[in-house]
Amino acid sequence: MDLGIAGRRAIVCGASRGLGRAVAGALAEAGAELVINARGADELETAAEDLRRRYGCAVHTLAGDLTTEAGCAKLKEAHPDADILINNAGGPPAGDWRDLSRDDWNNAANRNMIGPIFLMRAYLDGMAERRFGRVVNITSIVVKMPKEMLELSVAARLGLTGAVKSIARTVAGSNVTINNVLPELFDTDRLRQNLTTIGKKHGRSLDDEIVAHLEKTPAGRLGRPEELGATCAFLCSQHAGFITGQSILMDGGFYPGLF
Ligand code: NAD
Repeated sequence: MDLGIAGRRAIVCGASRGLGRAVAGALAEAGAELVINARGADELETAAEDLRRRYGCAVHTLAGDLTTEAGCAKLKEAHPDADILINNAGGPPAGDWRDLSRDDWNNAANRNMIGPIFLMRAYLDGMAERRFGRVVNITSIVVKMPKEMLELSVAARLGLTGAVKSIARTVAGSNVTINNVLPELFDTDRLRQNLTTIGKKHGRSLDDEIVAHLEKTPAGRLGRPEELGATCAFLCSQHAGFITGQSILMDGGFYPGLF
């Protein structure tokens, strides 16, 4: 299927590895021109080179933390317009909520709620003027299924989800959509870190913790980042203009509820 986004400019945050990198790959395959970001410049350049080699597309890089005010301003100055924005950054650390400081809560809110909102603020009006825009926020299954040890993530991401639902309605008439993709059990560094922490609490190794999670996962396997990348690319396509304000779970059936 032609996604109809060849030549569109896409900003992909947190794209040096994991899910962000997979989304960058899927958008590159669809012919988009990329601006990719991560905090570490070296790893980011390696990712950019790989994308150029594989897809022959234009890939610009911008190293830094885009969830900060300074990072967002630097991005906007270097790349004033975008047609597609993928909001993605590392999730907050897992841990017992009683051990968390006020700074921990503020940092989580800044990185996983306020930062993405300001990135949307920087680009949505331009998208609306040009009558095409696609924003995808990579959040988490915890939005639908809050989990012990992940309260920082639950709180920050629910705040973002609520804001998105409201903001999406204000730009839908200009062919600008905003959706959230909620991953669970995708085989990335982040997943392995979280399951290591959770496993320690249960007295289990990482491998045993993965097995324990897979026993509750009807698909019986971990997710492949490319699967999430392709889903995000579809949400950014010309065909997905009637899908907005949604939170789309990708979890191999892990979440047992209906809604
Ligand atoms: P990852 O740790 O494998 O990769 C994260 C990427 O983001 C890296 O490129 C890292 O350099 C970059 N990054 C981190 N913080 C950043 C920041 N402030 N600014 C710019 N770049 C930053 O993680 P992942 O598994 O790809 O997860 C991506 C998102 O999805 C995270 O928010 C994570 O919490 C969430 N998530 C993932 C899963 C899963 O199954 N993997 C499950 C639930 C939620």
